[in-house]
Amino acid sequence: MPETVLRSFGQGTEPLLIVHGGAGHRSTPLTEDGAASAHAALEKVLAAGWAVLAEGGSAGDAVIAAVRELEDAPDFNAGHGAALTSAGAAELDASLMTGDGASGAVAGVTTVRNPITAARAVMDRSEHVLFAAPTGAQLVEWGVETVDPDYFVTDKRRSELAAFQDRPDPAFQHGTVGAVARDSAGHVAAGTSTGGIVNQQPGRIGDTPLVGAGTFADDGTVAVSCTGTGEVFITEVAAHSVHARVALAGMDADEATVEVLDRIAAREGMGGIIVVPAEGAGLAAYNSGDMFYASASSAGSHTHV
Ligand code: ASP
Repeated sequence: MPETVLRSFGQGTEPLLIVHGGAGHRSTPLTEDGAASAHAALEKVLAAGWAVLAEGGSAGDAVIAAVRELEDAPDFNAGHGAALTSAGAAELDASLMTGDGASGAVAGVTTVRNPITAARAVMDRSEHVLFAAPTGAQLVEWGVETVDPDYFVTDKRRSELAAFQDRPDPAFQHGTVGAVARDSAGHVAAGTSTGGIVNQQPGRIGDTPLVGAGTFADDGTVAVSCTGTGEVFITEVAAHSVHARVALAGMDADEATVEVLDRIAAREGMGGIIVVPAEGAGLAAYNSGDMFYASASSAGSHTHV
């Protein structure tokens, strides 16, 4: 198991945005073109999210702006360019939580262009938290943009699925995108979106749409977004576990995150976690070998592929 890597960004109570484009282990390094494309995509993501924070917008709006860009970029496993199920289709999951305790999530959507917008609609326009495979009528009522299911399927993901079915390699199964933010009013928010894992059985759902497992936010502690072995992140209730360590054990965000990643490793899981606390530096940490992540604050921006 690779060692845990941790990077910190930002300080005090200043606005801060951290995003991830999935954690995993690459048995072959990214090509130069692949790396350039991922850097450029992450810069676009930061620009969209930071514009909201810089204008005094809310952490929730910044998270949505950033996750939408991540979903639109074919480089990452969410929205357009999502990983495909064993049947060759994209089944998409997303969740959103703001630090005041509001949340919304969707699982198994196949026609919503930006699943994070459906999570937002569930939060704002329904009395519930999680919808599985919402109906066409619900999507119309929520006012989210829909597309043909083929929109999500790229040639690269088709070849990846064929290669995986030929020779399964769990190291290639991972991905997911997410964002955590703190705004100038001191509120935090987190959002996560995914196509799940390559070659997953139709109907399989991981941690991403589960508030508490893949996503959590509390204005008194932290905002958290996870990527990695979904089944283990669910049973460890990973995102909430980071919050609980900060809230109940008085740990700082770094210590809490490393401890949660250690527990995940002990159960043969791996992945990455991004965290923005209500006060202090935010972080990106992973124990999977590789993770796409980026951050923006008044001190500048940073992208890592
Ligand atoms: N956690 C995601 C899932 O289980 C996959 C990942 O982030 O690698 O669906």
